[in-house]
Amino acid sequence: MNAARQRATTTNAGIPVASDERSLTQGPQGGVLLHDHYLIEKMAQFNRERVPERVVHAKGGGAFGEFEVTADVSAHTMTDCFQPGKKTEMLARFSTVAGEQGSPDTWRDPRGFALKFYTEVGNYDLVGNNTPVFFVRDAIKFQDFIRSQKRMPDSGLRDNNMQWDFWTNSPESAHQVTWLMGDRGIPRTWRNMNGYGSHTYMWVNADGKRVWVKFHFKTDQGIEFLTQAEADSLAGSDPDHHRKDLFEAIAGGNFPSWTLKVQLMPYEDAEKYRFNPFDLTKVWSQKDYPLHEVGRMTLNRNPENFFAQIEQASFEPSNVIPGVGFSPDKMLLGRVFSYADTHRYRIGTNYMDLPVNRPKAQVNSYSKDGAMRYSWNSPETPVYAPNGYGGPAADESLAGPPAAWEASGDFGRFDYIKHPEDDDFGQPGTLVREVLDDAARERLVGNIVGHVLNGVREPVLSKVFEYWRNVDADLGKKVEEGVRAGQK
Ligand code: NDP
Repeated sequence: MNAARQRATTTNAGIPVASDERSLTQGPQGGVLLHDHYLIEKMAQFNRERVPERVVHAKGGGAFGEFEVTADVSAHTMTDCFQPGKKTEMLARFSTVAGEQGSPDTWRDPRGFALKFYTEVGNYDLVGNNTPVFFVRDAIKFQDFIRSQKRMPDSGLRDNNMQWDFWTNSPESAHQVTWLMGDRGIPRTWRNMNGYGSHTYMWVNADGKRVWVKFHFKTDQGIEFLTQAEADSLAGSDPDHHRKDLFEAIAGGNFPSWTLKVQLMPYEDAEKYRFNPFDLTKVWSQKDYPLHEVGRMTLNRNPENFFAQIEQASFEPSNVIPGVGFSPDKMLLGRVFSYADTHRYRIGTNYMDLPVNRPKAQVNSYSKDGAMRYSWNSPETPVYAPNGYGGPAADESLAGPPAAWEASGDFGRFDYIKHPEDDDFGQPGTLVREVLDDAARERLVGNIVGHVLNGVREPVLSKVFEYWRNVDADLGKKVEEGVRAGQK
């Protein structure tokens, strides 16, 4: 190919075009001609440049990296990427939850902490947040929760009254809301926050021995937060603050890392632990189940194309590999359905074919066709199983021992089984009284008061005071005093 041809603009079909700047018209003042197919291609392609944004976690950023195992947990799990000596390529995406594309990074919100490990036995996704707990414990409430954090149907405005109405009518939210209103509700950067798997998962070792596990990715950069005033100022002056910080740090060779630690609970302990260990609104006390190191994740490579590699990245809790399984956490079991389903809608049925989502492991699937399909099995491979022509056949021995638990009983709509210390306000109370210091408690009150004064009205307001009195009597009193003073 000659040098001029190499630099010349072409259509998407590779055909050289006559001009980048002038449409085809009949004479200088004639109408624009419909058969200017290059103009039509440009306009039509532009109109389709966006895919629907994620309905939650729309605003985010991410980078590639590696996970290196530093300790031996093979007695507890056969998970490929957690075996001694392993280094696994990975992708991380961080995000806010409620804000849309283009919303400021520094709004008070939990942050998504979504990880994809490209392991030798398929993609393993661990899709968590920067908090160890969540607002609700049953997936049937998730859609209502998110709508309450989004926008009013008439004005299109976000509405704090709606948020607090949902929270105060859902007392199980108290732990997560306490977190959210505290210092960690606005991390200084994504590099300065921890990540948590949040749910309880199961680990299985090669002998089929089961143990319950919780994941903690502790930032090696140290926890740092923004005050409300700093965050408000950055929302105006630098709305992409977190996205920019991560990109620039990596571009400058300053690679952020997190140390993965796990809490392990013997399988049999779950029944008698003082809290229901599968309730996503609760943590396991680290005094009962201390942290064990597993390895380190380091992010060291920026995307080359944000849209292709981050916007189209698809994380799904259903991607678990041999050695790891689910638990009776009803939020987790709901998410196992909903993530793959949203990707099929948002990106298209063949989203797993995209380079960022495609496993490094060989895919021997019988799925075929659908919009934008561009990988296929050899023509000799039957399109059905079982078959007698050498097509892929399931091999139970490769799927690993079952990560299953026992259950019995009639179908029904049940609460979580109550354990001796289960109540919605106990653990947030502990956070307020035993983890926060005086200065952090004072900032917590200030953050709550500021949030509530921004639009919360009766009858929700009285329930807000009661909610905080239930978390901690003194905190409730101070919140009410602060709001009353602010109303004058
Ligand atoms: P521990 O004292 O063993 O753990 C307390 C945890 O609180 C530490 O992991 C610490 O994280 C974290 N923490 C410190 N400051 C804050 C803050 N401002 N906001 C949120 N978390 C903070 O106690 P327990 O394990 O018994 O838990 C006590 C309470 O701590 C819980 O009710 C829960 O609210 C909170 N917590 C518990 C976690 C857990 O997994 N058990 C995890 C995080 C919070 P770090 O080491 O990074 O400073």
